[in-house]
Amino acid sequence: MNKEIEGRIRERIKQQYPFTPYQSQLDLSKDIYVSLAQGTKVSIFESPTGTGKSYALIEGALNYLDDLKSNTLIKQKQKTQNDDDMPDWFNDPDIDLKLNPLQKPIVHENKQQKKHVKLIDDDAVFDYSSSEENQINLRAQSLNDKIIYCSRTHSQLKQFINEIRRSKHKVRVSTIGSRQHLCVNQSILSKANNNVNKLNHLCKTNKKQCSYFKSLDTTEQYIQEIFDINDLLSVSKKCQSCPYYAAKELSLQADIICTPYQLLMESIDQYIEPIIIVDEAHNFGSALLQTESCEISLNQLNIIIGGIEDYRKKYHQRVKAKTLYYLNQLLQLSKSLIEKIKTKQSGNLIILLDFMVEIGIPKINIIKLIKFVQNKDMRQRINGFIDSTQNVTQYCSFECFCKFIQQLILTSQKESILYIEKQNTMKLSKINNYSSFQALIDKSRNLIFLGGTLQPLNEFEIFKERVEQIDFTFKEYPHIISKERCQLLIINAELEYSFKQKNENLNQLMIQTYSLIQNIEKSIPEGIVIFMQTYTFLEQFKQYTKAQNLQYSKQIFFDEKQNPQILEKYSEVAKKGAILLSVVGGSLSEGINFSDHLARAVIIFGVPYPNLDSFELKEQIRINGNQYYDNITMRAVNQCIGRVIRHKNDYGLLFLIDKRFSEEKLKQKFSTWLQNRITIQNDFKGTEFFESFKKLI
Ligand code: SF4
Repeated sequence: MNKEIEGRIRERIKQQYPFTPYQSQLDLSKDIYVSLAQGTKVSIFESPTGTGKSYALIEGALNYLDDLKSNTLIKQKQKTQNDDDMPDWFNDPDIDLKLNPLQKPIVHENKQQKKHVKLIDDDAVFDYSSSEENQINLRAQSLNDKIIYCSRTHSQLKQFINEIRRSKHKVRVSTIGSRQHLCVNQSILSKANNNVNKLNHLCKTNKKQCSYFKSLDTTEQYIQEIFDINDLLSVSKKCQSCPYYAAKELSLQADIICTPYQLLMESIDQYIEPIIIVDEAHNFGSALLQTESCEISLNQLNIIIGGIEDYRKKYHQRVKAKTLYYLNQLLQLSKSLIEKIKTKQSGNLIILLDFMVEIGIPKINIIKLIKFVQNKDMRQRINGFIDSTQNVTQYCSFECFCKFIQQLILTSQKESILYIEKQNTMKLSKINNYSSFQALIDKSRNLIFLGGTLQPLNEFEIFKERVEQIDFTFKEYPHIISKERCQLLIINAELEYSFKQKNENLNQLMIQTYSLIQNIEKSIPEGIVIFMQTYTFLEQFKQYTKAQNLQYSKQIFFDEKQNPQILEKYSEVAKKGAILLSVVGGSLSEGINFSDHLARAVIIFGVPYPNLDSFELKEQIRINGNQYYDNITMRAVNQCIGRVIRHKNDYGLLFLIDKRFSEEKLKQKFSTWLQNRITIQNDFKGTEFFESFKKLI
């Protein structure tokens, strides 16, 4: 697309902003619009924290959606007479812009999606047969042209929805949540006793008797246009209906469906080639890996065998021979797994292919067996039978078993690892997202990843390999603050903060740490946030502070895993001067807004390399190379760094204490906006940095 057209898009979007956007914010909106309009398959946008990227996304995506819709409406009446690449409003700036959108990108038909359109009842799959064709076509219309927006938590989704409320666009927004968040049936909730599997099972088997399900009438009761999770709960409270199923129905009518990462893969099939936007995308890959990993214990397998045998005994005369045949195969598989769990040693990886041969997979018609366990009715019947005699902790053993078998068969040695954990549990752990990312490519129209700290981009390389070069774009945007407002100091402290082995210099490290904090805090006004490598080191330093009765000129707060009030307490006094000590990757290192006085400095002690004890990490490094280890570490560092500057008028200093940070291989992995702000020192001797801001404090 040529510069002139891009300029016009930019100007047009600017008019829609309800406030004056930052330059880079507007560029991001324009680039999102262009990406969607051109049909770029995978777009990755990195814009530093505090640059208003969520709002930029709203203007980019919603302007496109508005144009896409109006195009659909007027297409019959008016054919574009101009250049294909130049819709009317580009050629004639005076024409009503709403009537002249970019051309809708070609949507490649996804046969599988056309065949199976999943409607409100998540237990039912409707086949696309000729007799139902007209009816489903009507419904399917509303499944097109949707944006699925996903982020990590419901509170992030709520923030995004609040931003949409600020905009001038008229869109319908719905939020999808799990039953854990949206079930309101107290009797079912208390029976489930916080067990998610049990809650799902109880709802699926009892919903027809649930009064909230029975009084569900979405069109009449849920009349507003925009729903976050609280809106769903409050409307449902008024009309005593089920917000979980209401959300599913509302999402069919919505333009934008907001969902946490964990529900993306299971909800994507309900729409036809949606636009998928992943916000805070640095967390996305690891969240997917967690969702798709699974395990099965000896105890669960014994329960399953008992349950299937009882079921078979009770119903063997009533069920078909085929069902008995598959039940026998499941029994056989369960017994083989028990034998293997008992004989394999923990501490070693199991070769997937060999293992499948050992448990007899090649002798089974596995495709048919998978189809059998994928049948929800059948699974529920067996599951209910097994679970009726079990306590809560073992609930849904059969569900775990089915997931385990499916993942085992569908995965590869490159994508998952298999090993025995302590307590006789076999774990199938996903270490790469190849198949999930491929599914996202196949099922979406466009994929947009957005984040403040996405570099290093290693995990997105998978996309690059899987789409054409022109179908992949990466853009980064400068920070909105000037160089004078944020600087990074790497301090080459004498002792390295390395915890690979038990640190013999612990006492010296404590002395060094205290001395540096003492030195730095004198020069920094208001609040300082410090990130240590581990909770263990943080606790050791806390004990050392107590034992030595160390004094600080500011009030000091230590983060504890179980103390959510610590941030509030720190925030109350930060203006007068306070220090908050936390951990890289801990609850305060991401998503917390330490704006202005809450963080005039962020200090990171040590390069926070994760513990190499984990099988998953070792394999990921083996497959992806040592760079992978540096990449995930530096992404966590960049996240902590992102806490310090939250808006255009903010300012603060960053301190990284460890000489390894000044090595080129790590230095080049700092976010691009920081690269020209780095100074390396051997010790900290004070700073003039805050002089010019004194009158602001
Ligand atoms: S239908 Fe809704 S309210 Fe009733 S049990 Fe299921 S999720 Fe809970």
